[in-house]
Amino acid sequence: MLVAPLALAPGAGVFEVVALGMLVTAVVLHELGHSLVARRFGIRVIDITLWPLGGMARLSHVPESSRVEAWIAVAGPAVNVALAIVGVPLWIAALALLPAGSEWIRIAATFVVIHVLMAGFNLLPAFPTDGGRLVRAWLARRRNWLGATEGAVRIGRFVALLIAVAGVIIGNWMLPVVALWLWWAGSQELAQVRARHTPGVAVPVHGYTDQEIARIEAYRGRLRGL
Ligand SMILES: [Zn+2]
Repeated sequence: MLVAPLALAPGAGVFEVVALGMLVTAVVLHELGHSLVARRFGIRVIDITLWPLGGMARLSHVPESSRVEAWIAVAGPAVNVALAIVGVPLWIAALALLPAGSEWIRIAATFVVIHVLMAGFNLLPAFPTDGGRLVRAWLARRRNWLGATEGAVRIGRFVALLIAVAGVIIGNWMLPVVALWLWWAGSQELAQVRARHTPGVAVPVHGYTDQEIARIEAYRGRLRGL
């Protein structure tokens, strides 16, 4: 949400405001897709954070299971693909029925493009993207979880490097920043998995320690009791 005031230049019109609203909604719905499937597997969703590069649903505990990880990972992009499929006939209808140059045509086109790009970016095999998680789930069928994570991170770093190089070639400086973030986030998660697989180390689960999760749960319980 912090991006909202930054992305809107002083001269921004109605279209820019609507486009930004559609972008934020797309991120929220994507994260809700992950969250709903996670909850079906009995995983608690602690919170959903929105930030400049997208969103992140923080899950209380994800079991090291290919099946669970694959279902949760695929749910987010699936929401975007479904909405893009809904958007295409609306876009065609707008083109057919409205006068050329209508803002509604532009809005419908932007809606479809946002969801296609969001699904496409998230499905890149650049761990910890959703595509990267699918790679880990696939590798985990033959290796243990740590080995699968190491494999997915290696592939992810290679893809991040390609993204950075592509950004430099086409002169888009956001892409190297995104690549750097992917590299960093992949390394963080790999470190967490390594720690979890090293006996005798206290492990924060997705940024929260077990004690913090217990405290949050206790606090929620107190709120319910009010
Ligand atoms: Zn996602």
